[in-house]
Amino acid sequence: MIIESKGQIHDNLYAIGSSEFPGYLLKGKRPVLFDAGMTFMGPLYLVELENLLGDINSLAFHFLTHSHFDHAGASPFLKRSIPGLKIGASPAAAETFRKPNAIELIKNLSRSLEEKNSALIGGADVTFNGLEIDLVLSDGMEIELADGLVCRVIATPGHTRDSLSFYIPKMKAIITGEAIGAFDRNFTIHPEFTSSYQDYMASLEKLAALDIEIILMCHYFTLTGADARGYMQKAIMGAQAFKERIEHYLMNANGDRQAVVKKIFQEDYEATGAILQDSRPYLINLDAKVRVVAEVR
Ligand SMILES: [Zn+2]
Repeated sequence: MIIESKGQIHDNLYAIGSSEFPGYLLKGKRPVLFDAGMTFMGPLYLVELENLLGDINSLAFHFLTHSHFDHAGASPFLKRSIPGLKIGASPAAAETFRKPNAIELIKNLSRSLEEKNSALIGGADVTFNGLEIDLVLSDGMEIELADGLVCRVIATPGHTRDSLSFYIPKMKAIITGEAIGAFDRNFTIHPEFTSSYQDYMASLEKLAALDIEIILMCHYFTLTGADARGYMQKAIMGAQAFKERIEHYLMNANGDRQAVVKKIFQEDYEATGAILQDSRPYLINLDAKVRVVAEVR
């Protein structure tokens, strides 16, 4: 089944915030929140966490799939609001969150939505001012969340080099960020190999070997049952086909990358109207994907 990422998903598993920018909360002895979308949503996440957990300070962990503004934007606000919270991310993400230019980029990308949603922010300070990582998470690590309930860290680079997925064997559930691509309105998978095609495919192969019944996607959707089981193979085939299409277009355009970006933008974004992402981040990512294929990364 394909359901909207909103409210209760499974026993102790919830999507909070909005389905566009969901944070995934797994309740238990040591509750964990996976990702926290945009800066402006910080206060909203906090209210929902309080409703679901009772005591906000019982949130033990906050794990991040990668260092993009729409996945870690509200994390500094949550850390300021919950002093004991332990934030976990990959070694590469921990580095990124300390870089002044990365902090500046996240601030810039967040600003217009902060202005648009000032009513949601109220007087709260949601500034992204860098993020100190308390738990550096590496591939294969297991974190105990309750008796018999662990979260396994799986390095899944390819969308970014700092991408992680989180697998909960007991629930056969996985949180992936964009490591497995994203759906459009028609449930077509758009691959997101923005840092490396080879790494992206290797990550998908790794995930395809897992026993998965629930996929908590980066934005909008959760897949369960047969839709979850069949997803990784579809994502592999979709990524391969998209790469071949880029190669073909590059050849026809004599290697002119901008012409290829323009053509795919017209065909996939403008003509279908099915893509859920804003055009600005879509174009930034498309440009990166074309570059990755052109440079055979
Ligand atoms: Zn991303």
